Amino acid sequence: MSDMEMQLEAAPQENREGRPYLGSVAFYKHVILFFVFLLFVLLTGTVIFFSAHYVSLKKDYAAVCEEYRTVSQERDDYKKQFAAAAAESGRVLKDETSKTDVVRGDFSIPFHADPEDWRYLLINEAHPLNPEYTVKLAPTRNGQFVDQRIVYQLEKMIDDAAKEGYSLIICSSYRDYERQNELQKESISQYMDKGLSYHDAFFRVKRTLALTGTSEHHTGLSVDIVGEDYQCLDEEQAKRPEAIWLAEHCAEYGFVVRYDRGKEDITGMDYESWHFRYVGKEAAAFMEEYDLCLEEFSDMVEFFHRPDESE
Ligand SMILES: [Zn+2]
Repeated sequence: MSDMEMQLEAAPQENREGRPYLGSVAFYKHVILFFVFLLFVLLTGTVIFFSAHYVSLKKDYAAVCEEYRTVSQERDDYKKQFAAAAAESGRVLKDETSKTDVVRGDFSIPFHADPEDWRYLLINEAHPLNPEYTVKLAPTRNGQFVDQRIVYQLEKMIDDAAKEGYSLIICSSYRDYERQNELQKESISQYMDKGLSYHDAFFRVKRTLALTGTSEHHTGLSVDIVGEDYQCLDEEQAKRPEAIWLAEHCAEYGFVVRYDRGKEDITGMDYESWHFRYVGKEAAAFMEEYDLCLEEFSDMVEFFHRPDESE
């Protein structure tokens, strides 16, 4: 084999300069180019991913804002309708969702009801709690904390239930904003784990867990009470003898079922047989008699309190 032929044989393994490709300048150039390309792909991917995430978050945020606006608008419309109906007929018409008929004849609140009364404090999405609000807490016997002004009636209710054979447990009471935030996040991620989008999970959660700043639990005026034997906060709870006893007797101690059946459109919350709110005995009895939720009662108190409307 001639020299020329040997050179031609070796040619496929060598570059033009006659040196091996591995370890050559060209090889390192290619390696660098490869990593530059990889970096470019990774960076582009990251940018696309976070942009998409940001756009979806922005969409969720816009939807939440829209919901707030709708709820506020509905509340305003409802108030206007209520005032117009009352002014026109001189009597108070019950809301369409209410279970009873129109209340006839001259109508007024049969006791002095001041809109500024602490017991009538209205907290909902349209009326978030003033962040300056302070509460003097006191412990209940089972280590929960509530507004000190409601401890006596709360424990009396639990004691009287016990005398009749019902063992009641306060399972939730005062919550600060931080705790409410945690619960909210936990519940949203639980629904997201089940496959819901953030948006859907958010709206699912807020029907059963008031948004931070709009929860009555921030005031210490509300408690969740269940029977000792069955402590799940679900639909079954309402059928328990303890829940039935509470619904029948809570007004005697100044409490109401805050998120009642049939009032979901007004309260914005699902029916909760376990969530009790202290409003005082007079208001509780009145609200029970006329089947009013706190939103309706609060509107009434404001309406009859207007100087031009009172005698
Ligand atoms: Zn509650």
